[in-house]
Amino acid sequence: MKIQSIRDPLTGLFNRRYLEEFLNRETYRAIRTEKPIGIIMIDVDHFKRFNDEFGHAAGDIILKNLGSFLKQNVRDYDIACRYGGEELIMILPGSSLESTAKRAEQIRKEIKQLSVEYDGILLSSITVSLGVACFPEHGKTGEKVIQAADAALYQAKYEGRNRVVVAPNS
Ligand code: GH3
Ligand code: MG
Ligand code: MG
Repeated sequence: MKIQSIRDPLTGLFNRRYLEEFLNRETYRAIRTEKPIGIIMIDVDHFKRFNDEFGHAAGDIILKNLGSFLKQNVRDYDIACRYGGEELIMILPGSSLESTAKRAEQIRKEIKQLSVEYDGILLSSITVSLGVACFPEHGKTGEKVIQAADAALYQAKYEGRNRVVVAPNS
């Protein structure tokens, strides 16, 4: 029961409600300990095409695989969540902007290498765009930092996708 209320059933990642609770708690801790929190917003590139070409079930398999990948790649204090449809988010307590950006680039490369199979078909070249921002430099609340990461993600899409963009200093 508890697990169902904090996890997204398809990806196995934490859901948005849990994310909000977690981020709230972590921002208080970050202020107290004077440590940053890194945030990575991830969106699958041209995801609609996968659905259109191979069907919704194929799209689901991709999300499931991305979920497993992220779950395997979170460190002790980090969490990975499904933010919405094909948008995922990682919260990295204690991680500076620089190391969060490095981490995002690593994730981008590794996702590109994933081979996802559906119904005997290899769904190749799944790429993602990523936006990176940090608490407290990009906002005084978790929500504000998510907005900054989202704006950076939007910029990554605009610049051609399959890339990481770090939010500018405000
Ligand atoms: P962009 O590179 O700009 O992000 O293009 P996109 O096609 O990924 O973006 P768009 O927002 O146009 O489409 C997102 C698609 O994600 C549309 C929606 O049907 C699909 N989607 C959202 N949630 C799910 C899901 O749970 N399963 C599947 N199969 N598809 C989903
Ligand atoms: Mg999207
Ligand atoms: Mg997308």
